[in-house]
Amino acid sequence: MIVRRRTRQITVGDDRVGFVKIGGDAPVSVQTMTAGYTFEIDKCVAEIQKLAAAGADLVRVAVPERKDTEALKEILPQVTVPIVADVHFHFQRAMESIEAGVHKIRLNPGNISDQAQVKDIIQACKAKKLPIRIGVNEGSIVERKDKQKRLKELGGVFSDNKNGHLLAIMIAKLEEYLDIFYEEDFYDIAISAKSIDPLLTIDAYMEISKRFDHPLHLGVTHAGPRETGAIRSVAPLSHLLCSGIGDTIRLSYASDPKFEVEDGLELLYVLGLRNRIGAELIACPTCGRIQVDLFTLVQDVRKQLAQEIRLPIKVAVMGCVVNGPGECEGADIAIFAGDRRGIIYVQGEKVANVPEEEILTRLLEECRAFQDKIERGEARLGEKKVDILPPDPLGELGSGWEKVQKEKIGGVSLPVIQ
Ligand code: SF4
Repeated sequence: MIVRRRTRQITVGDDRVGFVKIGGDAPVSVQTMTAGYTFEIDKCVAEIQKLAAAGADLVRVAVPERKDTEALKEILPQVTVPIVADVHFHFQRAMESIEAGVHKIRLNPGNISDQAQVKDIIQACKAKKLPIRIGVNEGSIVERKDKQKRLKELGGVFSDNKNGHLLAIMIAKLEEYLDIFYEEDFYDIAISAKSIDPLLTIDAYMEISKRFDHPLHLGVTHAGPRETGAIRSVAPLSHLLCSGIGDTIRLSYASDPKFEVEDGLELLYVLGLRNRIGAELIACPTCGRIQVDLFTLVQDVRKQLAQEIRLPIKVAVMGCVVNGPGECEGADIAIFAGDRRGIIYVQGEKVANVPEEEILTRLLEECRAFQDKIERGEARLGEKKVDILPPDPLGELGSGWEKVQKEKIGGVSLPVIQ
């Protein structure tokens, strides 16, 4: 079980959209950012609502121009999820967003650094009880205005120990910026320190978690398309989350942001950091024993489950019965494919043996019927295990259990299982 680092807590939202707590004892939240233009009001509202429906706890929007903050006034009353204004360079955009009724502000110390302006933003947020995320990004922490200074700093960063220097600059920027907030007696702060480098990301958040007690927004910046960005993001985020660090996450993909939400939630589900909403699908990787089109079947099952199943029913789709029974133990509903057929079990009971073309329909019927039974109180999730013996006997080598009973394997003591 993951023991989470206890931080201060911030609250984002209002009576209409509800409140999301970040840090403290709140569950880790998932956020994303719209990909479209904020000033295109109808499209922006539709995108925000799509992301909320996918499970986003907060949605961030870009406000590079006055027309974007103007649009916020019309967008905010139409959405059902807290909105964060992402502010860069223009301090006025922060003030306009606050005025428009946004629920949180994100500031980048790398491009809004005028102390008086930062103080104005802090006071405006304080008056409306809005939290601020301070987002230090690897790409914006080296000097930008003074070219000579920039060259010198970049030279220093790239001479040796690149990550060590970047980490030091990130921490220094953060400390300097936080001092302004503390001077104003403002503590409703979340912190992020994103890098494209997974190892620097881990080092940065580890260091920040030791120095500050503000909730942390985890992410890897410009991680790439989902296909590769998922690995780049999930590798450091898993490490941090398993170490108890991280209070809200954003995966950053050059893809439809709904995938950031889906993958972020799945990461939290598999780590046991959030209670699953909707079905859990497990499936075998397939191999040369397969006798049905399992790839297509799994994708179809995944799509349909996402649309139709509200409860965390565990569904296993297995290509055959060689390892299937063992691998899907604990599933509420399982299908084992065979010679162009599928055998379906519901909580350990065989309920159907159907030809390949009927597997999807029948499996979904069983899932829906099982969901109804649970809602009527006639069944309980995870109550009965799938308990089917595979065709192969264990043989003379015995089972792992027998070795555990002897308590030792290769000199390693094993815990005694009651
Ligand atoms: S369940 Fe069967 S088909 Fe699927 S990977 Fe295992 S052995 Fe292969």
